[in-house]
Amino acid sequence: MTEWRVSARCLEVDDQVLNFFFSDNETEELTALMICETCSVADECLQYALGTRQTDGVWGMHNPQDRRNLKRQISRRPQHAQRYWDASFDKIRRRIASTVDAEGAERPVFAAI
Ligand code: SF4
Repeated sequence: MTEWRVSARCLEVDDQVLNFFFSDNETEELTALMICETCSVADECLQYALGTRQTDGVWGMHNPQDRRNLKRQISRRPQHAQRYWDASFDKIRRRIASTVDAEGAERPVFAAI
């Protein structure tokens, strides 16, 4: 097992919720993204997904389209990779917040670790 995975927040959810990480349903994907938002290894997870060319599912708070966008930006201007990386996370956090506000979705609750 890749070392960072032992701290993965998604290991704390049941199998039904784990399926949300590979769902086409927007509400389920939003739940997966909100779980990632609370995960301490989101950077490592996203690095892994990009490095292993994962085409499906939510990894590191990015869905497949988010990952394609980020990869394209970084490949065009690698000297600004960190800026694009941070901006991508910020953009997704704003998207989650605005969707939660608009739809009144409930954020998953986890016990403090
Ligand atoms: S960032 Fe998301 S998909 Fe990746 S380990 Fe954390 S909870 Fe799981």
